[in-house]
Amino acid sequence: MLPFVWSDDCLRHEAAAEVWVGVRTPATELPARALAIREALVSAGAREVSSVTHDDSALLAVHDPALVEFLRTAWDNWAAASLPSDRVVPYVFARSELTSGRTPPTPTAVWAQPGLFAYDTMTLIGPGTWEAARAAVDVALTAVDLVANGERVAYACCRPPGHHVTRSLYGGSCYLNNTAVAATELLSRLGGPIAVVDIDAHHGNGTQELFLGRGDVLTASVHVDPGAGWFPHFLGFTTENGAANLNLPIAPGTGDDGWLAAVREAAEFAASARALVVALGVDAAAEDPESPLEVCAAGYREAGRILGELGLPTVVVQEGGYDLATIGPLVVETLTGLAR
Ligand SMILES: [Zn+2]
Repeated sequence: MLPFVWSDDCLRHEAAAEVWVGVRTPATELPARALAIREALVSAGAREVSSVTHDDSALLAVHDPALVEFLRTAWDNWAAASLPSDRVVPYVFARSELTSGRTPPTPTAVWAQPGLFAYDTMTLIGPGTWEAARAAVDVALTAVDLVANGERVAYACCRPPGHHVTRSLYGGSCYLNNTAVAATELLSRLGGPIAVVDIDAHHGNGTQELFLGRGDVLTASVHVDPGAGWFPHFLGFTTENGAANLNLPIAPGTGDDGWLAAVREAAEFAASARALVVALGVDAAAEDPESPLEVCAAGYREAGRILGELGLPTVVVQEGGYDLATIGPLVVETLTGLAR
């Protein structure tokens, strides 16, 4: 009877679209993802726990207050400006080289403001985006509460995902880094080091950058090789590895064997930690439209078993996974392996 945390507010974000190579394409990070996972969990006998509202202290320990304030107000400001797009989308980016490293001013034009905080054009903001993103943080923190109070494993069934968000930049269909907030809160509740093992198909670049150079949160990520042309393109290479960060890029087309070998390596890296956060994306699945990896259901169960064998207090936070037919069963497989 593994507990999972749920909030209806996570359904309020409807990105509607992504702008990719200049083309507006339908969004794949949909509310139906969370509903499909919830349905599979309930069928499998998992115990639903309602999310509890938390104050902003853990959130602001991770993110720049200016990013949080932008996300909180972005949609209202955009809507009030009567712009031709029905979603907040950047068109000009405040790259630090543009201002020779000086802090750029906040632009007076509402339509220029996203360029202070967005690093891609794919991550649109609409009417319920802030409410859902903030609710996802509460779901993650409620899962931390459960583990801090003695559950060995708790699962945060949240969306939108978060592992691509840095301290002050959002992108990759993510707005607030739920995984990093959970790790930070676990650190303050249980002591360190905390390990984050990210098995989403894409590199957990935001989480890596948030904890880089620190020894109290160890980060490991198993992901499709960005050097083979995959998001986040600029990060996720082994050259970023150090004592507290381990990137394990794998080739497109890799199936269970190669993927599980990397998951084992990540688990070994995490073994000395006080507690574990699993950033669980199931988009490495063979059926998933967003990655070229070929992991099967048995692979997910085995990954859960490998991580569960560490015996650590564990918070699992939902990241990606975009095939609506398999996302629920794959999460259940992973949690089943983990909770044994
Ligand atoms: Zn992903």
